[in-house]
Amino acid sequence: MDNMQGKRVVVLGGAGFLGSHLCEFLLRQGAEKVVAVDNLVTGARRNLSSLAHEPKFELVEADITVTIPLNGKWDFVFNLASPASPIDYATLWFETMRVGSVGTENGLTFAERAGAVFLQASTSEIYGDPLVHPQQESYFGNVDCAGPRAVYDEAKRYGEAMVAAFGRSGRVSTRVVRIFNTYGPRMRLNDGRVVPAFIGQALRGEDFTVFGDGKQTRSFCYVDDEVDGIIRLALSKVTHPVNIGNPAELTMLQFAEAVRTAAGGGGKIVHKPLPQGDPKQRRPDISHAKNLLGWEPKTPLAVGLLRTVAYFRHL
Ligand code: NAD
Ligand code: UDP
Repeated sequence: MDNMQGKRVVVLGGAGFLGSHLCEFLLRQGAEKVVAVDNLVTGARRNLSSLAHEPKFELVEADITVTIPLNGKWDFVFNLASPASPIDYATLWFETMRVGSVGTENGLTFAERAGAVFLQASTSEIYGDPLVHPQQESYFGNVDCAGPRAVYDEAKRYGEAMVAAFGRSGRVSTRVVRIFNTYGPRMRLNDGRVVPAFIGQALRGEDFTVFGDGKQTRSFCYVDDEVDGIIRLALSKVTHPVNIGNPAELTMLQFAEAVRTAAGGGGKIVHKPLPQGDPKQRRPDISHAKNLLGWEPKTPLAVGLLRTVAYFRHL
């Protein structure tokens, strides 16, 4: 397997949850230079504290919808810049739409100038509330273009179309990863996503707030596995979208119990209203990732949750 030895890499959105882990992995694989470009709207410098004294790493503070203030030749551009949690993009409506559209185009024109491979972080949300289960890459999705999630879902769909246009026209060598729910250290405690929400509740001994009847499903991938899959895709020649996620599917009721076990605490289940547009089921079909990238997730939920709980316990 090829690796990132000697490569020069730009990570747009590199101060976020996933981006900071990606920067660390790239340097661990021997990258010559890694630059994170981030406006810190949902990310934070402290996510990169492990790299503070690393000479091969730099954080450049910039809004990629305005500028990517770098020059010269680069090998890879990873575009992870976007608010990603439903409560983030429900407050950052316009920022989310702009970074998914203008920001993605700026990232692609930068990659073209730099002679770099461009990898776009897309999402399982492009399948919307899916009517096909599990979701294969060939499924076109079921998205409400005017619902509360539309600012994110449609920006990500537009982003994929923009990437496809640059790829088809031969301007940039492109890759698209469709990321399914990923969790781990450095998620924000109050970002509203179910993993930090339930872990925070368990550690404070509070009740678990399950939205709706709790029978909706998600499939959670540990961050180390996700980043490994993203890097494998970047290094491959696969130009069509690839799902990277863990196919182990759980209801939110089952997930609350898994968190209770990992954290050793938590109260009873209390039901809250289901947000509008909340997908009923989600599970990736990962045949492409297995066959084309030799990738599959390795970290069992119980292990990943213990590591994530340990992080939140020491915040
Ligand atoms: P995150 O919010 O922690 O990271 C996103 C980063 O992008 C932040 O550091 C933020 O400050 C930065 N950013 C946003 N707008 C920017 C702009 N205009 N200019 C520069 N930087 C900007 O979220 P995350 O969970 O790490 O998600 C990273 C990427 O992966 C996102 O594109 C998201 O859509 C995608 N994704 C994540 C998940 C998941 O489960 N975590 C699932 C599907 C897709
Ligand atoms: N959820 C929940 N309680 C919470 C937060 C979320 O039951 O406190 C549910 C939410 O309704 C959804 C699932 O957990 O069905 C995953 O939500 P998250 O925001 O983490 O991700 P997404 O919906 O984008 O997959």
